[in-house]
Amino acid sequence: MSTAKLKLERLETVIGLELHAQLKTKTKLFCNCRADQFDAPPNTHTCPVCLGMPGALPVLNKQAVELALKAALAFHCRVHERSLFARKNYFYPDLPKGYQISQYDEPLATGGWVEFEVDGRPRRVGIRRVHLEEDAGKLIHTEEGRSLVDFNRSGVPLIEIVTEPEIHTPREARALMEEIRRILRYIGVSDADLEKGELRCDANISLSVDGRPGTRTEIKNMNSFRAVEEALSFEERRQRKALEEGGQVEQQTLGWDAERGQVVLQRGKEESEDYRYFPEPDLPPLIVTQEWLERLRATLPELPAEKRRRWREEFGLPDYDIRVLTEERPVAEFFEAVVRLFPEPKEVSNWMMSELLRLLKEEGVAVEELPLRLEPADFAQVLRLVKEGKINRNTGKGLLAEVFKTGRSPEELVRERGLERITDEEALAQVAEQVLAENPKAVSDYKSGKREALGFLLGQVMRATRGKADPKLARELLLRKLSG
Ligand code: ZN
Ligand code: MN
Repeated sequence: MSTAKLKLERLETVIGLELHAQLKTKTKLFCNCRADQFDAPPNTHTCPVCLGMPGALPVLNKQAVELALKAALAFHCRVHERSLFARKNYFYPDLPKGYQISQYDEPLATGGWVEFEVDGRPRRVGIRRVHLEEDAGKLIHTEEGRSLVDFNRSGVPLIEIVTEPEIHTPREARALMEEIRRILRYIGVSDADLEKGELRCDANISLSVDGRPGTRTEIKNMNSFRAVEEALSFEERRQRKALEEGGQVEQQTLGWDAERGQVVLQRGKEESEDYRYFPEPDLPPLIVTQEWLERLRATLPELPAEKRRRWREEFGLPDYDIRVLTEERPVAEFFEAVVRLFPEPKEVSNWMMSELLRLLKEEGVAVEELPLRLEPADFAQVLRLVKEGKINRNTGKGLLAEVFKTGRSPEELVRERGLERITDEEALAQVAEQVLAENPKAVSDYKSGKREALGFLLGQVMRATRGKADPKLARELLLRKLSG
């Protein structure tokens, strides 16, 4: 066997992403059919426009344009005053018009960037373009071997986000897609629910050899972060092996078979010329004025990357805490509201990560509902009661859960349940006395040198007070009485 594998000194992986995100509009891009009814029965949200009937004319949805513009601004793109819709012609059973209305040589926005983090290191990747287009319908292949088509999704508004090919590892590709999703959710442009297909990823990948660009393959339609990372890793290995063995990479369009963990050939690559793009004659150019743009810019919240940076400086939190708590905007804003009332960021972070996020999960409450379910002031109040020693930490956790579940105020619950920590020496001395009287065996054990009997007696005091005794004081009192 020959081991003379080709040694390639400088093989570099080059990846670009093309993401499709469903805009969070009420209606479709060019008609009044509902676009927000994911679970509706097939073909119940259709009309002549989105069914591609002859003579039906598209009317552009203003809300979709505004959401697309907000995304373009959040990706730091240059928004063009004039952009143009174009017909992308191809045949597919879920595309009744025989073309998709998209944008081509005059897109909505170009030349932006996204800042993100990979394993704690900052990265920035260019955004080549953001444009508006309509989705196609959905094919359903039945077990009996029939294919059905559902046009509810036909005409739903999408933005296509194309990155520059500046990504160099599958892990970076995943982190970038995660950040794009985070941004879209922060700015309220898309829910980007991957399971509902609201964010889908095509990725192209090539290996440049000693600086010379290589042949690209494209992996289509991945709808999980894991699939993106795994498919790109697989394809990176496959191309590397081919090149090292002196072979070539063919330009192909691939799919990802997650079950078998490998790419599958879909077709030889088509070029954009194959689509015979031409300007959409039924829609005028889209004109975006500066005032309109500035009005939308003013509605943008702080973006995740800015937030992470500010939190690091302002709160000095560990990166892990920052990552967890800035993941979803409602959680991040809840944290900020609590810290304004109880300015101990690390303590707030600990309670949120260990208690609050667990409660949300246990109670099946979506993060969007957090502000409706719990007042930051009540959360801060629980922390304050613990800090001031009025209740102990464990009681505080139980109290928080109860406040969360009932929506009642912490003070009220503390009063009603008598949860205050017993720091009253006289009251506690009585309890200690009683515990000693009821446990003569443990008392004599202690006196004959079995020190561990003290732990048992202390446990009995805590039990008698249902955990509310100040343990330090209780221990002192027991010791005093035992040696007396
Ligand atoms: Zn319609
Ligand atoms: Mn597209």
